[in-house]
Amino acid sequence: MPNSHNSSGRASFGQPEDINDKIDIIPGLPDFHDLSERLKFSPKDGRIWLDDIRMMMLHASSMGALRSELIESLGVNKARALLTRTGYVSGAQDAELASKLRPGADFFDVFSVGPQLHALEGIVSVEPVRLEADVAKGKFYGEFLWHDSIEDEIHIEKYGIGTEPVCWMQIGYASGYTSVFLGRPIVYQEVECRAMGHAHCRIIGKPMEEWDDIEEDMAFMQPQAFANADTILKPREQITVLDTPPHSTAKTEFHTKISTNMVGASAAFNVACHMLDKVAKTEATVLFLGESGVGKEMFARTLHQISHRKDGPYIAVNCAAIPDNLLESELFGVEKGAYTGAIESRAGRFERADTGTIFLDEIGTLSLAAQGKLLRVLQEHQVERVGGKKTIEIDIRVIAATNVKLKEEVKEGRFREDLYFRLNVFPIHIPPLRERKADIPLLINHFLKKYGTSYRKNITGFTSRAINGFLNYDWPGNIRELENLIERGVILAPNDGAIDLCHLFTFGEEITIPILGITKDGTVNDSLNAQGGENAADLHPVDIIVDSLIEQNVGLEELEKNLIETAVKKSGGNLSAAARILGISRPQLAYRLKK
Ligand code: ZN
Repeated sequence: MPNSHNSSGRASFGQPEDINDKIDIIPGLPDFHDLSERLKFSPKDGRIWLDDIRMMMLHASSMGALRSELIESLGVNKARALLTRTGYVSGAQDAELASKLRPGADFFDVFSVGPQLHALEGIVSVEPVRLEADVAKGKFYGEFLWHDSIEDEIHIEKYGIGTEPVCWMQIGYASGYTSVFLGRPIVYQEVECRAMGHAHCRIIGKPMEEWDDIEEDMAFMQPQAFANADTILKPREQITVLDTPPHSTAKTEFHTKISTNMVGASAAFNVACHMLDKVAKTEATVLFLGESGVGKEMFARTLHQISHRKDGPYIAVNCAAIPDNLLESELFGVEKGAYTGAIESRAGRFERADTGTIFLDEIGTLSLAAQGKLLRVLQEHQVERVGGKKTIEIDIRVIAATNVKLKEEVKEGRFREDLYFRLNVFPIHIPPLRERKADIPLLINHFLKKYGTSYRKNITGFTSRAINGFLNYDWPGNIRELENLIERGVILAPNDGAIDLCHLFTFGEEITIPILGITKDGTVNDSLNAQGGENAADLHPVDIIVDSLIEQNVGLEELEKNLIETAVKKSGGNLSAAARILGISRPQLAYRLKK
């Protein structure tokens, strides 16, 4: 059985009444052997593993050299943001591990995984001072002392004692860890620091909304590329958006003072943002690549907003949403009498985008005829209306997006090769949500506020079960799916209550993935139940299932056969979907079925 000790005086997970519990005497951190056992050295193949995360050792002195070079070359603010973000990402990764490493333990012990891993990773020794938490209500207060921080050590060696705290990467770690752990943006400040002459560093963490004047501390969550740019969006109404579904992430406002539409601390997201910033100032054609739902429209709109054309029109067109027979007249305009029904002359969207930007979403669905006309626009900056004789000069920037592999479309003869080369000048890959899980707290918090307001409901937050569900899910529909799920959750959750797993994944087949899935390496993925529900500490579903399987003499083969049959049935005979549920490839599934 999982270890469980709900001794009084400790805040426990998911029990709202505990929020008033002030923990004046914090117990020492739990024994950390369970964690150090997860650290594996594999010198033969040059690998160090923390559970299944690859780690590396770095000389503190070379970290020091890197740090001072960053400060000297980028300036203190940029260096600080970069290092904070680096810490944030590793904290977020450790938070994903926490419940897996201490299944069934109480809040304090599971939460302690972060501070203890931070120590194990050789960064700092953490002493908890005060910790109050209510996950479902999103309440958190954490105060810790840091002893022998490595950042202080390398900073003091080079710069001596100063007036500002310097443990940037560690503050990032604490923020990333706690934010992902609680599913809500938690910001830490270092109120005392050894590099300011204090005996130790003292950090305090609270939900973002409870801080005043934290712009500086939050700068790392805003892509550095835009730190100095005027990225504040105009209200939706002022932007011409045609045929695009109301888009979610267009305005991800996570703090009233930092109202930018693009937030995220994850590396994958920031790489895309840097590229966006580089190309924005040019006139180059940009092609956004990425799965559906990743927010390509949001990127396109931001590109327009930070370009020289920001005062011109921004016209978005979803090529797949316009019927084939109307597409050409919609895009290029029509002259009166060009066909039955063309009762008056009309400008197309290219004309209307003159002096601005046109965004062509799902470009892969354009007909060959429309592709030819588009090529002409790109080459000659001219359009000709349907049924018209004169050419109209236009000055536009074209941005396109696709979720299909255009190169393959070219091979199949469905997409013009010359157009492909014209569009593929500056491709930007937008990462899927599963590659930027560190950004989930920011995103879910934003959507929670958005739908709480529009449905006039007061939802306090998410249960730990729901947060674990988010972290263990693969998000095939990306940010759009996340947004839909939260909208559903806001509708289903009780007023003044928290969104639980049952309000999110209401379809049986989805809920089984995070609760009991087989991961790619063949181990049972049970992290969802680790510390979640009210009685998770007493009942551990995986233990129960395994016990009963062994008791009933169910062999591996029978278990596999059962798993496969259930997955196939649940996905309605769709083998690809069934393979996804099982976490194996389709050919692997086909092979097993044949057996
Ligand atoms: Zn410090």
